[in-house]
Amino acid sequence: KPVILWFRQDLRLSDQPALVAACHDGPVIPVYVLDDDGPGDHTMGGASRWWLHRSLTALGKALRDKGSRLILRRGNAAEMLAKLAEDTGAKAVHAIRHYEPWWAKAEENLAKTLDLCLHDGNQLAPPGSITTGAGKPFKIYTPFWRALSHHMPPDDPVRSPTKIPTPSKWPTTEALGSWGLLPSKPDWATGFSDWEPGEDGARKRLDQFVGEAADYEATRNLPSREGTSRLSPHLHFGEITPRQIWHRVAGEGGSVRTFLGEIGWRDYAQGILLQYPDVGRKSTREQFDKMPWRTGKAAKSDLRAWQRGRTGYPIVDAGMRQLWATGWMHNRVRMIAASFLIKHLLIDWREGERWFWDCLVDADYGNNSVNWQWTAGTGVDSNMFPRIMAPLSQSEKFDAADYIREWVPELRDLDDDVIHDPEDAGCRPEDYPEKLIGHREARERSLAAYRKTK
Ligand code: FAD
Repeated sequence: KPVILWFRQDLRLSDQPALVAACHDGPVIPVYVLDDDGPGDHTMGGASRWWLHRSLTALGKALRDKGSRLILRRGNAAEMLAKLAEDTGAKAVHAIRHYEPWWAKAEENLAKTLDLCLHDGNQLAPPGSITTGAGKPFKIYTPFWRALSHHMPPDDPVRSPTKIPTPSKWPTTEALGSWGLLPSKPDWATGFSDWEPGEDGARKRLDQFVGEAADYEATRNLPSREGTSRLSPHLHFGEITPRQIWHRVAGEGGSVRTFLGEIGWRDYAQGILLQYPDVGRKSTREQFDKMPWRTGKAAKSDLRAWQRGRTGYPIVDAGMRQLWATGWMHNRVRMIAASFLIKHLLIDWREGERWFWDCLVDADYGNNSVNWQWTAGTGVDSNMFPRIMAPLSQSEKFDAADYIREWVPELRDLDDDVIHDPEDAGCRPEDYPEKLIGHREARERSLAAYRKTK
């Protein structure tokens, strides 16, 4: 009897325990189901769909190289898989375990009719397995990371089989092109050309980064430099595993511990997701239900200016334009831009989360929500709301002048000493917007709003 190999955010053939288990069980039918209803308000965003199209193309080719195929179906995941099983006589489904809340429902439905075998493989340690001395899940990152560091997966990635056993008859497949995952007009993805989705692209990124990892500590906060790995979309789509990264990088010198700590943040976010499945939908600290977030016409217009990179704060605008153009934004700038939306503009963090969800090629329910809530101070860890980040001094401190020149061409000719705050220096070009609100005024407004939550 054939078995189904259900791909989700694990679009790879190496270090792929579900594939290995499926191959032991019988002829394998690899399938990807595009389920746009299951995730509800978190249907895959535009930039992620662009990535998915290319990643599935790469996966299909890799499977063909091993004598197999990739079957594509669109619709309710559990129903589609049940139908595929009916058509092919398959009795079992193998898949990697994922923790986004919408999968739980699909898995529950599927398990009613089929033998569903879930395998760990996308995290350093299965979420929920790392606990405090009292056996409780961690809420704070630092102690979590300390504990996780003692539980690194062994360096024995599951080898990819050279040949994948095939069924005697292949089921039909939909055409990837018919899914409309790529932009039609206008083509907003012209700036995405540096990305190479798929397992080969992930491996190349890692190879390139390994040589630079030793400088990570010194350069990771500088948006003008390429100091980080840019592995995030590959990790989100599971084209590479944190275990592969860990064992490749751990032996390097310099500041690799800091880098590995960031990889640990991913696991941390999955752990939070397990405890708070609604983390992308509501503030974890209930106090913030009383927050008088701005709504209405003026707030909508400010939100739009933020989305388009026209706030009058060069570092924020550079980040938002980088996001739109490339589907990615530097981490330091993500923090500054997110904090600006929440505190300077006093707009609900969920508006920002939604925009990032649509625009990021690495949009990830756990990482995105946990980081938005962390920046807002609404999450499980420390309440950062009253700590208002000053975007202009952040921009100077992290030497963002060249980054601003790259993404905000109106400011290209300004010198380093005025580019961070051209309005204050009296040299704002006419085609660059005035600040939506001054820093001091914004600070007072948001602290006054915050007091109402107490
Ligand atoms: P590197 O610095 O090279 O780090 C290596 C890997 O570690 C990353 O690829 C990522 O998988 C992980 N990582 C690094 N920082 C974090 C972090 N703070 N939280 C969780 N994982 C981390 N990351 C996403 O993958 N998806 C998101 O949707 C996302 N949304 C974010 C929203 C906000 C408001 C903020 C402040 C951060 C967000 N991040 C998100 C985290 C972080 O910005 C990105 O992971 C990082 O910028 C990706 O670039 P990199 O691969 O070069 O990172």
